[in-house]
Amino acid sequence: MKIGFVGLGNMGGPMAANLLKAGHQVAGFDLAPAARDALAKAGGGGATSVAAAVAGAEVVITMLPAGPQVRQVYGGEGGILDRAPKGALLIDSSTIDVESARSVARAAAERGFDMLDAPVSGGVGGAAAGTLTFMVGGSEAGFARALPVLQAMGKTIVHAGLAGNGQAAKICNNMILGISMIAVSEGFALAEKLGLDWQKLFDISSKSSGQCWAMTSYCPAPGPVPAAPSNRDYQAGFTADMMLKDLKLAQQAAQAAGATTPLGAEAAALFQMLANTGAGAKDFSAIFRMIRGGER
Ligand code: NAD
Repeated sequence: MKIGFVGLGNMGGPMAANLLKAGHQVAGFDLAPAARDALAKAGGGGATSVAAAVAGAEVVITMLPAGPQVRQVYGGEGGILDRAPKGALLIDSSTIDVESARSVARAAAERGFDMLDAPVSGGVGGAAAGTLTFMVGGSEAGFARALPVLQAMGKTIVHAGLAGNGQAAKICNNMILGISMIAVSEGFALAEKLGLDWQKLFDISSKSSGQCWAMTSYCPAPGPVPAAPSNRDYQAGFTADMMLKDLKLAQQAAQAAGATTPLGAEAAALFQMLANTGAGAKDFSAIFRMIRGGER
């Protein structure tokens, strides 16, 4: 298929490379020339504008930082809605606010395009390995058309409902994750104060009702889960800044929808504190170090 790809950063670069590996033709644009060169080296076409990237495309994929960039790249003058060929399927995989996702999808529909929001989880490792999880919002027909393309970049692809529901699934999941990482951190910090060995707490709690992914796959206390970032000085992984971004999106959505999310609000405040200590680029599980106290 002919694919136009806009946003070739840490995630978009390897995602576009996997599309090429699967035999698709990819023309890509990024503001950063180095990102365009990397795509050209991988066998794609490095385009010098959004218009050039989407010319003749059957599918357009975007992987941009946040809502303002997505609104600009789609709706701005010379943007995707102006320049994509009639009938092209539009897929935004950036993590953005639900409201922006729905308003861009509405604008796309008014111009006759089918548009999906398809944010991902799985991080840079999943993008490179082609094992991302896609959470997709939009029409059934659009989802069916997107499936073979998304399968070249991901392993688990779930249709979450109408436009915006992919973003909704992403921020609900990450709010649960942010809160549960703090809960596990408090438990392990308390255990230390009580003279309870972390490994012992892990052996018991990972088989008890406190069990959760933040503990069993990503334990923030060093030791019990060897592959976790806590064993390599909290090198990311998934950065604290990214978690903060998603928690803020969750709060924005909760306020707009009138949902009660007091622990989500507290989690956003705590990750903001962590970022303020200069640890924003560390893995988000470094929240344990802040809760435990000090740089031990
Ligand atoms: P990134 O900053 O590495 O990449 C974004 C790219 O978009 C950059 O290369 C930038 O130059 C480009 N860009 C910005 N504005 C542009 C414009 N107007 N036109 C063309 N290109 C433009 O970010 P990333 O890590 O690749 O993340 C992309 C999205 O994926 C974000 O929404 C992020 O929240 C989400 N995400 C990231 C991860 C992760 O682990 N990195 C995991 C899941 C989801």
